[in-house]
Amino acid sequence: MSLHKDDGIVLFKRAYGESDRIVRIFTLTSGKIGAIAKGASKSQKRFMNTLEPFNHIAVEYFEKYGKGMVRIENAHVVEANAGIEKTLRKVCTASFFTEFADRLTKEREKNTSLFYLLKEVLTRIKDVEFDYRDILYYELSMLECLGYMPNFTTCVYCGKAMANENRLYFSSERGGILCPRCSRFIPHKTYPDEVIATLAGLKNGHPRPVPAADGEENRSVAPYDVGDGVFERSAREIMEGFVSFHLDVEFKSYRVLKSVIR
Ligand SMILES: [Zn+2]
Repeated sequence: MSLHKDDGIVLFKRAYGESDRIVRIFTLTSGKIGAIAKGASKSQKRFMNTLEPFNHIAVEYFEKYGKGMVRIENAHVVEANAGIEKTLRKVCTASFFTEFADRLTKEREKNTSLFYLLKEVLTRIKDVEFDYRDILYYELSMLECLGYMPNFTTCVYCGKAMANENRLYFSSERGGILCPRCSRFIPHKTYPDEVIATLAGLKNGHPRPVPAADGEENRSVAPYDVGDGVFERSAREIMEGFVSFHLDVEFKSYRVLKSVIR
């Protein structure tokens, strides 16, 4: 057994037996790993406040504990989750993104960009209350990291590049937009002008800056609202349809998040 050292973000924890704890960690160099921390519940000091969800930790572990899990030998906090517990919305948002990373990755698949993206999301949640467009931005970023990005730019059937004003037809099954011609024979839904073009452009915008010192949020977001929440409703429908069809995953945390976010 050799000792490994890595950085990781704690995705999940649960008690195991009388005094042990099982965690899943998304590590920088080995992707997602399952780990057992012996005596974590009994000896409060040993992993005190370390193996908690949303924490960025430095971890030392031994391979092969059984059932593919590793055994944590040592861990300390690099960046604590402190701040996320401040509001229910922050907790729900952080839970959604950690569940997203957890459910859509296989064990031991290294994904450095996903690690840094998850780290960025969790840090940002401490600073700002996410609204739906923030969630959308990071959800799309995660899909991109995972290689599941919907196609918002070319017809998924014939490959034709689409001008903004023609991006109206989205096929969940095909995972992207359709040109007017292909939309005649491929099932899809039609969305209002600019909804899909805005979704496509969202990834090119910049994430929101942190609040200014006076508490005023200094928003600098690209032109975005089609009006009356039309964009949000349509974007939700597109994303929910896409995720449930292609990834075949229902996120428990998403249901909760929807109930706390406008
Ligand atoms: Zn086409």
